[in-house]
Amino acid sequence: MRPTQAIISLNALGHNLSMIRQMAPKSKIMAVVKADGYGHGIVKVAKQLTEADSFAVACLEEAIQLREGEITQPIVLLEGIFEASELELVERYNLEMVIHSQRQLVWLEDSASQYAHSVWLKLDSDMNRLGFTPEEYSAAYKHLSDMKNVANIRLMTHFACADDVTSDKTNDQLKLFHQLNKGIKGERTAANSAGVLAWPESHFDWVRPGIMLYGCSPLSGQAGAHHQLIPAMNLESQLIATKKIEKGHTAGYGAQWTADEDTMLGIVAIGYGDGYPRHAENGTPVWINGRIVPLAGRVSMDMIAVDLGADATEKPGERVVLWGKELPVEIVARHSDTIPYTLLCGVTSRAKFRWSDES
Ligand SMILES: *Cc1c(COP(=O)(O)O)cnc(C)c1O
Repeated sequence: MRPTQAIISLNALGHNLSMIRQMAPKSKIMAVVKADGYGHGIVKVAKQLTEADSFAVACLEEAIQLREGEITQPIVLLEGIFEASELELVERYNLEMVIHSQRQLVWLEDSASQYAHSVWLKLDSDMNRLGFTPEEYSAAYKHLSDMKNVANIRLMTHFACADDVTSDKTNDQLKLFHQLNKGIKGERTAANSAGVLAWPESHFDWVRPGIMLYGCSPLSGQAGAHHQLIPAMNLESQLIATKKIEKGHTAGYGAQWTADEDTMLGIVAIGYGDGYPRHAENGTPVWINGRIVPLAGRVSMDMIAVDLGADATEKPGERVVLWGKELPVEIVARHSDTIPYTLLCGVTSRAKFRWSDES
C-alpha cells in the first residue's frame, strides 16, 4: 500500500483546547471546525472537543454533518444562511445563525415559524468582508429585536490584521465595536486565534479559535510550539527510492534543481496530488530519520525528491515527515508562499487518514 498518510492526534486537539482555556479563562470557546475541521475531519475533531462550548462552521452542510455525527453542542453558522429555504433546516437542526446582511434580516422576518432563534449580529468594523456597516448596525439591531422569532441577539465582529501585533488596525476595530455596542445588551465575540494569542482585550464573552486548535500559530514568524500548542496533523510518507547523482546533473520536471556536488537523492511518495504544495521551493525542509533535508526540484503529482547528501545511509522504506510534530507546517508554508491554513485544508483524500489517541 502507498505509505502516504495524515495521522491526526486527537490528544493534541484536546491539549490545544485546554491551552486556549488557559489563555482566555473568562471566555467561552466557540471551536471553529469549518472546512472539514481545517482538514482534520470535522466529526472526529468535534467529538474529541467535548469541552468546547460551541462549534462554528461556514455553512449548513457542515452543521448537518456535525448533527448527524451526534454533536449536541450549539453550532454557529459563520455566514448564516445563503437562501431563505435554509431557515427550515436551521430550525430542524437547532443552529445559530450569523446575520450579516439585509436580505438575511428579511428572510428571518418573513418566516412564519414560531421557532425562537439565537442570532449573532455581525458588525463590519472595517475588514470589509461580511457584516453591517457602522451606519447600518444600530438599525439592524433594532430590526432584530423587534422580531418575535428572535430570542437572543449576540454581537460579533472579525479582525483583519490581528496576526500582526504591530498593526493599529485591531485597536481601531475594537474601538468601533465598543462604540457601536454601547448601551446594547448581548454577549460579544471578536477574537479569532490571533485575537486569543495577541489581543487579550478582545476576548469578551466568546473566543473563536480555529487554527490554534490544530496546533498552529497564526502570528507571523511563529509556530504553535511558541504557545505550547501541539500540531494535530502529521503528514507522513516513506522513501521509495534512492539514487546517486553526480555534480551538474538535475532533478525533476523542468530540471529546476542542479546537484552542486555528487550526492544521493531520495524519492518520497507524496506530491501535490496529496496536497503537498507544488509551490514548495528548492530547499524546503523535509524530516527524515531525525534530520532535516532539503527538497530538490519541482514537486510532482505523486512524488518529491530530497537531497540526502553524499554520506546518506537511509534506505527505501525510511519514514519521512512532511509536516507535524517533527517539522512545523508553518515553516513548510513559509517555503511555499502560503499559510498553514491552506496546507492543512488541502490534504486530499488520497492520503490515508488515521486518527490516533497518542499525543
Ligand atoms: C475562520 C474564522 C475564525 C477562526 O480563525 P482562525 O484564524 O483559524 O482562528 C474565526 N471567526 C470567523 C468569522 C472565521 O471565519
